[in-house]
Amino acid sequence: MSDTAHPYLSRPGPKLLLINNQWVPALDGRTFKSINPSTGLVLAEIALAGAADVDVAVKAARAALEGPWARVKPAERQRVLLRLAQLVDQNFEELAWLDSLDMGAPISRTKAGRQRAVGMLNYYAGLAINLTGDTIPNSIAGEVFSYTVKEPVGVVGSIIPWNGPLSTSIWKIAPALATGCTIVLKPSEEACLTPLRLGELLMEAGLPPGVINILPGDGQAGAALSEHPDVDKVAFTGSTVTGQRIIRASAGNIKRLTLELGGKSPDIVFADANLNIAIAGAGNAAFQNSGQVCSAGTRLFVQRPIYEEFSERLAKFANSLVVGDSMQKETQLGPLVSARQLERVTGYLKDGKQDGARAVCGGERVTQGQLANGYFVRPTVLADVRESMSVYQEEIFGPVISMMPFDTIDEVIARANATTYGLGSGVWTEDLRTAHRMSSSLKAGSVWVNCYQAMDPAIPFGGYKRSGYGRESGRHHVDEYLNVKAVVMKIG
Ligand code: NAD
Repeated sequence: MSDTAHPYLSRPGPKLLLINNQWVPALDGRTFKSINPSTGLVLAEIALAGAADVDVAVKAARAALEGPWARVKPAERQRVLLRLAQLVDQNFEELAWLDSLDMGAPISRTKAGRQRAVGMLNYYAGLAINLTGDTIPNSIAGEVFSYTVKEPVGVVGSIIPWNGPLSTSIWKIAPALATGCTIVLKPSEEACLTPLRLGELLMEAGLPPGVINILPGDGQAGAALSEHPDVDKVAFTGSTVTGQRIIRASAGNIKRLTLELGGKSPDIVFADANLNIAIAGAGNAAFQNSGQVCSAGTRLFVQRPIYEEFSERLAKFANSLVVGDSMQKETQLGPLVSARQLERVTGYLKDGKQDGARAVCGGERVTQGQLANGYFVRPTVLADVRESMSVYQEEIFGPVISMMPFDTIDEVIARANATTYGLGSGVWTEDLRTAHRMSSSLKAGSVWVNCYQAMDPAIPFGGYKRSGYGRESGRHHVDEYLNVKAVVMKIG
C-alpha cells in the first residue's frame, strides 16, 4: 500500500484538533505538513494549534473535570481504559503503520510494541480501582479520627516528543484516566498522526467530552500550555532544555510537574561478560530506533582485556544491520525523524571527527541510492574518544556510540557517573558481586543488568539529575496525578 492509500491518510481535508470530542480547525486556520522521513514526501496536512486553541481546550478540560467526569466512578474509568485497550489491540496494525510512516521507526519495531501499548492500558485499568488513602492513628488530644483521601490533581497538560508517539501518548493518557484527571495532550509537531488516530479510538471507547483533548502544535502551543493559569500539572517528556523552560513557565500558578528528560547513558561491559549477548545487547542499546531513545546506551565502556575484540565484533554487528525505508519489513534501522535531526546528528559526527574521534563503522549519512532522499545515518561506533569531546558529553539522539576502554570497577563507576544526566545505564557481567556493586553505585533511574531498555508497565522509569524527576510506570505513577487530602475529625 502506498503512503496516501492508507485509509486514515486518504481521508479528504487536513487532520484537525480534538477539543471537547469535536474535530475542529485551528482558530487562526494555520496548518502544517507532516513529512515521511524515509522519503522526504508529504504525508498529511495537520491543523496547527496556537495559544488561543490551547485556551479553548483547557476550558473544555476544566469543564469536564468539574462536570460529568467528576461523578464517574472508578469502575467506569476502569471500563473506559479496558475498552480502549481492546480498541488499541484491534487497530494495532494501523497504529503501528502510522507510527512508522510518520516518525520513521521500522515497522518491525512498531509492530512489536503491541504488548507494551495494550499492557500499559490494562495495567492502569487495574490501578483505577485501587487508589486508596490511609487511616492514620494520631496523638492529638481528645477523640480525633484522621484519614487521607486522594483526589485528581486536575487539568493536566501533557507534552510529548516524537520518538514513540503511540506509547508516549498512552503513557500520559492512561494515568490521567485512571485517576480522574482531564488532559490537554500536545504531541510533537514531528509526529502527530498516531495520537490523532488514538483520539478517535478514545471517543469510540466512550469518553465524555473534554476529558482528553489532543492539540498538534509546536513549541509555542507547548509554552502556552505550560504557562496557562488553569492547568494544574504538566507531564512532560522531551529534552532537558525544554524541561527547564517548562519549570520556569510553570512558576506562575505553581504547577505540579513530572519531567522525563534527556540522557547520555553509560553501558558498561566487563571482561567476564558473555560476549555473545553483550555485543548485540550493547549495539541495540544505542542503535534501536536509530538512536532516538532517551535512555540509549551511548557511552560504552569496555574493559581493556576485551576492548579490541569487542570493538571489531561491534563494528561487524553494526554493519550487519539493515538500514532502510521504515515500511520495509526487513529494515532494522529507519531514518532519523526530520531534516533538522539529520543536520544535528551529522553536525555531531563532524565535530567528533574534528576533535579526533575515529569512526570504526558508519560515521556518515546515506547519500546513495533510494535512501538518499530520506534522513538516514549509518550506525556508528566512535573510538579514540576523549571525555572532553561533545560527542561524549552531549545527547546526540542518533545511532552513535562513543566507545572507551576502562581498567577497574572504581574507575568506571566514577567515569559513568561523571555526567549531568542520570536516566538509563547498563552492566554486562557474569559476576553477581560486580552486578550488585554496579547497580548500587550507578546514579541513574534504571540499571539494566545483562539486558538493556527492558520496560514493563509495572516497573518505574525516570531520571536522576538533569534527566528529570517523577516516575512513569509502576504503581506510584498515579500518585503524580493525585493530591493527598488529610481529613482530621474531632469526634469526641
Ligand atoms: P523537545 O524538548 O524539543 O520537544 C518535546 C516537546 O516539547 C514537543 O512536543 C515540543 O513541541 C514541545 N516544546 C518545545 N518547546 C517548548 C516550550 N518552550 N514549552 C513547552 N513545550 C515545548 O524534544 P524532542 O526533540 O521532541 O525529543 C527528543 C528529546 O526528548 C530528547 O532529549 C530525549 O532524550 C527526550 N526524551 C525523553 C524521554 C524520557 O522518558 N526521559 C523519552 C523520549 C524522549
